[in-house]
Amino acid sequence: MARETIIAGNWKMNLVLDQAWELIHGLKQELSGKKGLRVVVFPQAPLLPLVADWLEDSFIELGTQNTSSQLQGAYTGETSPFLSQQMGCRYGLAGHSERRELFAESDKIVASKAQTLVELGMRPIVCVGESLAEREANQHEEKIKKQVQAIYQTLPKEQHKDLIFAYEPIWAIGTGKTASAEQANEIHALIRAEIQSQSVELIAHSTPILYGGSVKPESAGELLKKSEVDGLLVGGASLKAKDFISIVQAYP
Ligand code: PEP
Repeated sequence: MARETIIAGNWKMNLVLDQAWELIHGLKQELSGKKGLRVVVFPQAPLLPLVADWLEDSFIELGTQNTSSQLQGAYTGETSPFLSQQMGCRYGLAGHSERRELFAESDKIVASKAQTLVELGMRPIVCVGESLAEREANQHEEKIKKQVQAIYQTLPKEQHKDLIFAYEPIWAIGTGKTASAEQANEIHALIRAEIQSQSVELIAHSTPILYGGSVKPESAGELLKKSEVDGLLVGGASLKAKDFISIVQAYP
């Protein structure tokens, strides 16, 4: 069974109303669905209902950048995953390095957010990756394995099939330094082996693993050709219609 390819655009805290509309309009004009390909955008939470409306007649899907591990309640300032789902989100990011670093999200918090998304029938994209210091100290493999293990230690077996991972080396995010396609492929193989040791072979084989970190139209094709790279999580380049369209069109 071939794995699906997912190309996701993480808008972060960027794009206000007119910019978001222009981008979605541009994507809808130029992109058409292809077999085996999913394209997902992750706008800021207040934009979700509008973007969902704009995408109603499109194959492009919607995701949420951050959600609470709770469904509702006295959590001022948090976003409910249940409400995000009602707004049309099928996907949710969990454990983006900006959440881990700037908002102190631990492996445990990330796992519990991922679990809540799965329980709602949504698909979490769990981000893992090492800092530059960890790579230079040759600690990157251990760090990534630990992040993957935390997920499988929390989610029961029947929930494993809904997981998606993204390998996002922190040193490559927003820096213009992309991991080479070979480096990405090697770490994706390590993540897949870790999934196999934490779950079962079938799950390891079917779980999509995306690469993220300064993906540009020039690097997308090489990355997507790699056997272990099942898609891309794109930050900066997903904000420009022309760049994101070229990245999506790099899918053969
Ligand atoms: C990201 O934030 O997930 C990301 C990969 O950003 P960029 O493409 O800008 O490096």
